[in-house]
Amino acid sequence: MSQALVGEAEERYVLDALRSGWVAPLGPHVDAFEREIAERVGVDHALALSSGTAALHLALVHLGARPGTKVVLSSMTFAATANAVVYTGAEPVFVDARPDDGNVDVELMLHAVRTLKDEGEDVVGAIPVDLFGRACEYPTLEAGLAELGVPLLEDAAESLGAHLDGRAAGSFGTAAALSFNGNKIMTTSGGGMLLSDDADLVAHARKLSTQSREPFPWYEHTEVGYNYRLSNVLAALGRGQLERLDDMIARRREIRDRYAAAFADLPLRFLGRESSSRDDAEDNCWLTTVVLDPSWVEERRGHPAVVQERRGHSAVVEERGTSLETTPADKLVAAMSAQDIEVRHLWKPMHLQPVFASSPAFTTGVSEDLFQRGVTLPSGPALTDDQIDQVISALTREVTSS
Ligand SMILES: *Cc1c(COP(=O)(O)O)cnc(C)c1O
Repeated sequence: MSQALVGEAEERYVLDALRSGWVAPLGPHVDAFEREIAERVGVDHALALSSGTAALHLALVHLGARPGTKVVLSSMTFAATANAVVYTGAEPVFVDARPDDGNVDVELMLHAVRTLKDEGEDVVGAIPVDLFGRACEYPTLEAGLAELGVPLLEDAAESLGAHLDGRAAGSFGTAAALSFNGNKIMTTSGGGMLLSDDADLVAHARKLSTQSREPFPWYEHTEVGYNYRLSNVLAALGRGQLERLDDMIARRREIRDRYAAAFADLPLRFLGRESSSRDDAEDNCWLTTVVLDPSWVEERRGHPAVVQERRGHSAVVEERGTSLETTPADKLVAAMSAQDIEVRHLWKPMHLQPVFASSPAFTTGVSEDLFQRGVTLPSGPALTDDQIDQVISALTREVTSS
């Protein structure tokens, strides 16, 4: 799906970290890695952390997430986004997706925040997720959330290298989280980064990330901290990866273009790629995603005012989404797997996850439908042209024969 590419550049950096003796765990590669990423994304401050989840968690703590507060977020995401909210004791409130790229339905997110605030709830943040490497509709979101007085935390775990409106993913809102997990666009084996122009936010997160040590000659603590820093050795690996980030993105784009050319006549569409709503959006092509038999979603595209079902605590939660009914995505994943090709389901929406069954959600049915019809294709820069051709012929066979 998304195998990491490491080589000579990474070896050089990691060896330097080891030979310099800076393994304890911070050091000059951490500082340089923070500077280089901040510069690349165009933000003032960066904090290297042990994971993207940690970056989300610390940003939320700084924004005041705690028991009794709410955080509104994309439902279609990896569980880490929602888990970070739950760590703080705040309650997650999920918002459905738009059909064309699977990113959060911006109008619905603003509606959710407005509704909760009208009910007297303390909404401390909203987290849109840049799904599969495509930035959300930030101009509308930033303006709308600013008007409502709710900070925007960008989950850019999947979108380093993407752009919108001439701005880089990771630079939107009050703060953003990046992930350098092994399967992401670039990796430190495991790691993440918190980005912001707000010096106080990053300074506070920096303190929290090292067990909240006060500047005293002894260990003095006035708040509960975490052990969340990235090590110097892994930051060195990240600097090697960053040197070749543009090449890896170019290869992923090339792979996506090959799929697009090969599948032009099949009854499927690409998530994100064909969205004509913005021609100033540039994905990082992290994972290429197709939606099978897209007519249902297509119909909805012209009807933004779909029924908005709101689920709250009192609602009876059905055992929805856990049934073993076979969907178009299930069939394709199984058929490709039988040919040793890794094709995966999209993120199962959080409002359909048993663990979040009692959390409030503003839903339209779009993310559930995308989950049933969407799959991600092998997209890693290490794939050979022969392997891509194998994927293309296997997928063409499956889709045309069913
Ligand atoms: C990977 C990912 C995260 C978590 O990042 P880790 O570094 O694995 O903790 C958060 N959000 C999204 C959308 C992700 O894909």
